[in-house]
Amino acid sequence: MNFFETHYNGKILLVDAAGPSAELISLDSSLVREYLGGAALNRALYDRFSDDDPVVFGTGPLTGSFAPASCLLVATFRSPFTGRIANVPLTLRTGPQVKYTGFDFIVIRRKSSNPVVVVAHNETVRIAPGEAYDGLQLSEMLDRARREFGRPESFVWPGAVTPSLAAAATGRGGGFDRRGLAAALTEKNIKALFIYGNDGLPFGSDDLAHSDRLIGEMKKNLKKKEVGFAGLLDRIGADQAAKVVPRRKVRHMACARCPVPCMSHILVPRGVSGTDGILLADHLGFAALAEHVGIGVYRLISVCNEAGIDPAAVADWLAAGVPQEEALGFIANLVKGKENNAPAGNRGGDFYGPLSEEDCDFFGGGLPPLYNVADDASIKAWKTRTARAMILGVCPILAARFPILDASLPSFLAENTAQAKALEQTLESLAEAVIAGR
Ligand code: SF4
Repeated sequence: MNFFETHYNGKILLVDAAGPSAELISLDSSLVREYLGGAALNRALYDRFSDDDPVVFGTGPLTGSFAPASCLLVATFRSPFTGRIANVPLTLRTGPQVKYTGFDFIVIRRKSSNPVVVVAHNETVRIAPGEAYDGLQLSEMLDRARREFGRPESFVWPGAVTPSLAAAATGRGGGFDRRGLAAALTEKNIKALFIYGNDGLPFGSDDLAHSDRLIGEMKKNLKKKEVGFAGLLDRIGADQAAKVVPRRKVRHMACARCPVPCMSHILVPRGVSGTDGILLADHLGFAALAEHVGIGVYRLISVCNEAGIDPAAVADWLAAGVPQEEALGFIANLVKGKENNAPAGNRGGDFYGPLSEEDCDFFGGGLPPLYNVADDASIKAWKTRTARAMILGVCPILAARFPILDASLPSFLAENTAQAKALEQTLESLAEAVIAGR
């Protein structure tokens, strides 16, 4: 298998936040042979630099390729919440953008004594002063970045609120961080990671045709109502939340090369949301809020996304009897650094049924649970598909929804049947290790 050369740049960006300084080191082909990429290779890099408590961002071999939904970047770090190692999947354009900067992995080690922002840009990196980003909400942060460095193609942002309530965001719709990626970045005094990639990658000559055939299969019996944010809420049984999402005049939004989007941009009346339109991307955060406030979810999720606060944390306040208006006041005070009221609760953990807190570490505790909770075999299959996607660099939501996609992913890397079989064996044992947190 020669995918090391065709699907990777062969470079790791090593940032020493304490310097601050940065260097490029080679990605060894032996490391790729052993760990393939994504969450599995991240863990190997985490262990290599564990004395410096690193946050590792890693692509998979398929990230940025023609494979469907090849958008994934994975963050691996020690959760400041639990002390355990966790992974968080990062979608939208983050993964391809890292590849297009010329890096495959970004390792941020040690702590900066002053706030900084890390700007990765076509095989170069700049570690710039970040004091001016302190306390900025999402729109203000993006405006400032645009003025300072140009419009970010992609970003990872740890939010404007106290780290214990923040969730790292990769876009205006939040993200899937419920294991403290935001807190881990804040511990290092990193105010944001901006990614500007405009390079390209080689790919296999049949990859595009192969991908189109596969997408055709995936869409064969797909109904219109299964697409978009509401379709995904239906699929996970979040009925209360699904009821308040309009099915018409909705623009579905997709990450890089995703054929069946699970996000939607909707227009809601200004009086309801406090905004003209909103990107819905965090299914569990939205469902957790909608359970308590119904249509009031729009106002709350807008301010959560803008502040970088975990909507599931706000839902925990609501569950404890805090009225909606008071919760909005808490958020406003959090942004000003005046609130110290951390909700007790499990941040949406109830959605995962029989899964323990530790079970949820490997996928960051924020992905929609696409399994039948009464069925152990279905949970095991879901976990395995999720882990495989997080190693190969493909969206775990799409791979979990479409078993045919999961089964076809190795064929984008193997050149013949014998190679495909060997790759399956490697993937199987790596997926087990990722699920077990090894
Ligand atoms: S399923 Fe959703 S999160 Fe995944 S790639 Fe598609 S739009 Fe993005």
